[in-house]
Amino acid sequence: MKKSEERKIVIFFALTTCYIIKCAAHKEHTNGLSSKLLIISFDGFRWDYLQKTNTPNFDKFLRGGVHARLGLKNAFVTNTFPNHFTLVTGMWENIHGIINNEMYDPVLNETFAPWMKKALSDPAWFSVGAEPIWVTNQLQKPNGRSGVIMWVGADAPIKWVQPSRFIPFNESIKEYDKVDTLIKWFTDQYPINLGLLYSMQPDEDGHVYGPDSTEVIDRIAQLDEVVGYLLDQLERHHLLEDLNIIITSDHGFSSTPKEKEINLDAFIDASSYMITGLSPVANIWPKEAKMEEIFQNLTRGASHNGHFIVYKKEDIPDTFHYKYNRRIPPILAVAENHFSFSTEKEPWSMLGDHGYSNSYQDMHPFFLAMGPSFKKGYSVDTFNSVDVYSLMCHLLQLRPAPNNGSMSVVKTLLLEQEESTSMMTFMTYLIGGLLVSSVASIFMFGVCRYRRYLSSQKRFDYSHMGVRSNLSTFVGSTMTRELSSPEKVSSIFPLMSDSD
Ligand SMILES: [Zn+2]
Repeated sequence: MKKSEERKIVIFFALTTCYIIKCAAHKEHTNGLSSKLLIISFDGFRWDYLQKTNTPNFDKFLRGGVHARLGLKNAFVTNTFPNHFTLVTGMWENIHGIINNEMYDPVLNETFAPWMKKALSDPAWFSVGAEPIWVTNQLQKPNGRSGVIMWVGADAPIKWVQPSRFIPFNESIKEYDKVDTLIKWFTDQYPINLGLLYSMQPDEDGHVYGPDSTEVIDRIAQLDEVVGYLLDQLERHHLLEDLNIIITSDHGFSSTPKEKEINLDAFIDASSYMITGLSPVANIWPKEAKMEEIFQNLTRGASHNGHFIVYKKEDIPDTFHYKYNRRIPPILAVAENHFSFSTEKEPWSMLGDHGYSNSYQDMHPFFLAMGPSFKKGYSVDTFNSVDVYSLMCHLLQLRPAPNNGSMSVVKTLLLEQEESTSMMTFMTYLIGGLLVSSVASIFMFGVCRYRRYLSSQKRFDYSHMGVRSNLSTFVGSTMTRELSSPEKVSSIFPLMSDSD
């Protein structure tokens, strides 16, 4: 074999190896890992709302992505603050500490409510162990930038981290402007790789008009147009190919007719307790020495009324994941679906509500996702909203902070990336092995020819045959040069190392 031919073979195998490795890397990329992620929450979007009207843009996710047919099983108190924080931290409410929209913390001796701007940006409420995805992203990725529009918890520094881009809650900002802002963040000089967008609809309409109203149906159609605008803009800016999109919500909705009102004043004296969040889960903090009196009166009231249950904190079922936190009150009154607590100070006022136990299907929010990592036209029945954080960490290739979630169901939504990657790894090793064995064969071939030359030299010494001498000298000198020449060795191994 001529030297130039040997070189060609080595170069061929080296280039092939490089190509295979590049293909493997590309395959991983097209499966969406390390790519960008956008999560959108439409507040109060019940699991079955898409069946209420035509939603051609949401339907693109059903056909081209994945969804949960029965929605997500969210956290026990199905309210906005706790469940938005559960989605981004993967923790149940008693672990992440945002146990309701309104709270009292006996150690801080302060109350919290969504309209208290100072409390919203106070890490004492939010930075107590849970790590939202925007923090995980920025702590672990060298170029991780998170852009957050109005998501619960993002006002406060958590683990001393705030999102790279942030717009606080502002109900006057239109949904289309939010989309434009996100597109700008994803495409500017230092782009975000993670976006979070919060929309306060259809929650507001659900409260005012009820979940079965035409106003809610109209709103769903309007939100579908927003999703259409988002997809158009992402396509126009060439962002779709490398972006996984999750669309979900914090909770569902129930109708709350006036005739299903439960006035707590009928059972307990309003001056004997403080309340943080009245309906449908009343957080009751009895005043000094009033604990037993309030509990007994409420228990009698519940027995008489038949449409709510009363728990002492220590008796709250473990399945609620709602016990071991100082912000959970000594007494909890939990209304049955469709029933509303009221007091003279806080009368019944809404045709629709949420916050009921997560055991009610009505309280479950929808879940859709689409993008390079997800299967197409695939669905599962349901999974826990605490799993969404693990899913997002997987998509962004982040190591999840401690959480209550699991990948067991959500991994089935993903393309079989592990299998395809291991196939590419196998191919890479196969081609690499072929390359090494080829080089070894060429080497052995040279050694054999050199040994043959040495033995012929010996015969030449004894036989003094001129013709044989000339031929062996020619072959021998070639092989000697091939084995000892430093440029020959270095011309092979750099190619191998380049291909690694
Ligand atoms: Zn909500």
